[in-house]
Amino acid sequence: MSESDVVVFVTVAAVRIQTWLTRTPSLKLLRGASHALRDSTSVERITRFLEETGLAATIASDAGDVDGVVVLRVAPGHDPAAIVDAVVTDLGRELPGVEWEAWWTAADGYLEAYRKAVAENDASVGRRSFYPVLADLPAAQSCSGCRCEPAGDRLDDGQRIGADCSVRAGAGKLRKGEATTFEELARCGGLVAGRPQRAVGRQLSRNHLATIAADGNRIGELFDLIADHGNDDLRRTCVASLDAATCETVQQVTRALSKGANVDAVIGHYTGGDDVLIGVPAPLAWQVVNLLIATFEAEIRVRIRGGIEVPAEIDRVLGGVSLGVGVTFAHASHPIAATNRRAHEAMAQAKNEVRGRKGAVSWIDLTAEDELPKGRHLTRAELSDLIGGGNPGGRRDILDLPASARASLAELLRNRRSSPGDTSQGVRQWADRTGRPELAARAEAAKLDMFSDTLSLARWWPELGGGVV
Ligand SMILES: [Zn+2]
Repeated sequence: MSESDVVVFVTVAAVRIQTWLTRTPSLKLLRGASHALRDSTSVERITRFLEETGLAATIASDAGDVDGVVVLRVAPGHDPAAIVDAVVTDLGRELPGVEWEAWWTAADGYLEAYRKAVAENDASVGRRSFYPVLADLPAAQSCSGCRCEPAGDRLDDGQRIGADCSVRAGAGKLRKGEATTFEELARCGGLVAGRPQRAVGRQLSRNHLATIAADGNRIGELFDLIADHGNDDLRRTCVASLDAATCETVQQVTRALSKGANVDAVIGHYTGGDDVLIGVPAPLAWQVVNLLIATFEAEIRVRIRGGIEVPAEIDRVLGGVSLGVGVTFAHASHPIAATNRRAHEAMAQAKNEVRGRKGAVSWIDLTAEDELPKGRHLTRAELSDLIGGGNPGGRRDILDLPASARASLAELLRNRRSSPGDTSQGVRQWADRTGRPELAARAEAAKLDMFSDTLSLARWWPELGGGVV
C-alpha cells in the first residue's frame, strides 16, 4: 500500500465542554448551548457541510455521534490540516465561544486513531488548538448572559449580550415539561399532586437543586481491549452502544421520576460518550443517583451484548463497567459554574475511593460546608440498600434519628477531627444515655466520619412515603 492510500482520521472536539456550557447562570442560555452544541456537531449537519463545501472528507461512521465531537476520514492524498481549518472555521461561526482542539493520524480504524492520539507522545499525530477569537477582545461592557465575553448589539430580556450568548438565546425549543428556570425546576420538578416530596432534614427543601455529574469507570480499559481485538463490527457496536446507553439512561431516569408531574424532574445539560451532567430538585437527588447508576450499568451491558457476540476477555471488563457520580447540593440561585465544578470534584473522589472498581457517589452540600469532606462516598450497593430500607454499616440508624437527635449528634461531632478520642467518648455516652446502644457500639474514632457523612446524607434524603420510586 502506498503512502497516499492510507486513511487519515481527523477529530475536532470542543474543549472543557461542561465549563463552557455552565458559564451562564441562566437555565435558558445553558439549554440553548446544549442544543446548539448538539446540532452544530451532529452527523447530519456535518454531512451537509461536507457536501456543500466539497471537502475531501467523509464522516467516520465508526466514531458514533457524540455532542461536541466531529470525526472525519480524509480521502488519501489530501491535507488533513486544511480540512481541520475549514471545519473549525465553520464551527467557530456556529459556536463562537467554544475552544476546539484537533488531531489527525493515519490508522486502520477510529479506535486505533483515538488510542494514538491519547498516548500524547506519538509523533505521527498532528495537533492544533483553536481559541475563541472573542475572548481576546478588550471588553468595554461584558455580556450580561455570561460575563465571559464582550457585549454586542443583540438584546436578551432587554440586556446586551455577546455573540456566544446570542447563539445560546436563539437555539433549542422548550420541550413540553421542561422547566424554564432553575427556580422552577427546584420548586416543581417531578412534583405530583398529593405526593409530598420533601427532604428529611430540611423544612424548605423545594428551593434547592442537586447538580449531578457522572462518568463511566473502566471505559478506557474496555475500549483499549476492543481496539486491540481488531474487529470493526465490534468497535462500531461498542462506540455506538456507549453513547446510546448514556442517553437512554438519562431519558429513563427522567421518565421514571417525572411521571404525572407538570414539570420534568430532570434537566439534562450534557450527555455524550460516558459523560453526564444533569440538574434535579434536591429532595430527588438520591433516587436519581441510584437509578442513574443502576440503569447505566444495565444499559451498557445489554446494548453491547445484544448487538454483537462479545469475546470472553472483553466481556469480563464489560461486566466491571460502572458509574462514578458526584453531587452538589445548593440553593437554586447558586451559579451552575460553581455547582458543576464541585460536582466534578466529588465525582473524582467517588471514583478514587473505590479505585474505579464499582459504582459510587460522593457529594458536597454547599448549604452546610465549603469543602468536600475527604473520603466521603457511598457505594452503589450501600445507596440502593439504604433506598430499599436496609441498614448498611449502621447508616439507617443515623438516618432515622428524629431531627433533635440529629442536631445533638452533629453538635457532638463538631470537633471530631481535632479530638477524635473525646468525640468518640461523647457520642458513646450520649447514645447510651438516650437508649441507642446500636449507635454506642459503632461510635469508635475511626467511624466518626461515617456518622458525620450520614448526617449530611439525611439533610437531602427523601422523606419516605413521599413518592419514592
Ligand atoms: Zn455571553
